[in-house]
Amino acid sequence: MMLSHLPVPLIMDLDRLPFPALHLLPMDDYKLLNMKTNMATMITSRGCPMQCSFCASAALHGSNFRLRSPKNVVDEMEHLVEDYDVETIAFMDNTFTLNRKRVEEICAEIKKKKSGDTLGMYSPWIIYLEIC
Ligand code: SF4
Repeated sequence: MMLSHLPVPLIMDLDRLPFPALHLLPMDDYKLLNMKTNMATMITSRGCPMQCSFCASAALHGSNFRLRSPKNVVDEMEHLVEDYDVETIAFMDNTFTLNRKRVEEICAEIKKKKSGDTLGMYSPWIIYLEIC
């Protein structure tokens, strides 16, 4: 059998992707360290335009920085909170803060949801960041 390692095209519009199929996972088993509350992870972007020699990001996700829209990100947060009682969300992006404007837009989207009382974001959330 011959294996091919031809590069596959990058998905440029990440908003087209469905949310992860969490209904297939035992979500109540995912806790943060020894806390009792539910947690989940999210990835809101792919790729990194930087070329740090020690980093595998470009090899894994390409160097073309692609972003989910703030609305799409917060819609998934709302889904996690409402459907899985998630109280802690960890953003696992390589470069969550690379685009400051988008981070501010995500915060504004969260505030908008909160003011409409559709997102019970009274829980702590954690952002894992790479300080590069
Ligand atoms: S900025 Fe961070 S994610 Fe990007 S190449 Fe450097 S170490 Fe990797």
